[in-house]
Amino acid sequence: MTTQFEPVIGLEIHVQLASKTKMFCTCPNGMDESAGPNTEICPRCSGQPGTLPVINEGAVRLAVRAGLALGCQINEVSSFERKHYFYPDLPKGYQITQNAHPINGRGEIEITFGPKDHLQK
Ligand SMILES: [Zn+2]
Repeated sequence: MTTQFEPVIGLEIHVQLASKTKMFCTCPNGMDESAGPNTEICPRCSGQPGTLPVINEGAVRLAVRAGLALGCQINEVSSFERKHYFYPDLPKGYQITQNAHPINGRGEIEITFGPKDHLQK
């Protein structure tokens, strides 16, 4: 008996670019483990009223490099949106995200699996 179904699995993968500063302000990117809690934060990245995000050009360049490495379509026009939601560790109440016009799209990574007995060695 054969099945008529083919499993198709989608993955949402997050990476942290090796930028020196955060994506939307000039604060260090939080990679310094010796920094104390809540020391690498400013009014802008904490979403205080009256502040606006300023994009990190270096991070965009790294994102494009990642897109090229993954064979992505690099979009000439890109935009960001605010996604509002409550989450206990997100006091500003929103996340800046890309949905409609991301920097990269349609990339791929090929994962090859060997025979099961090969994986158990
Ligand atoms: Zn900041």
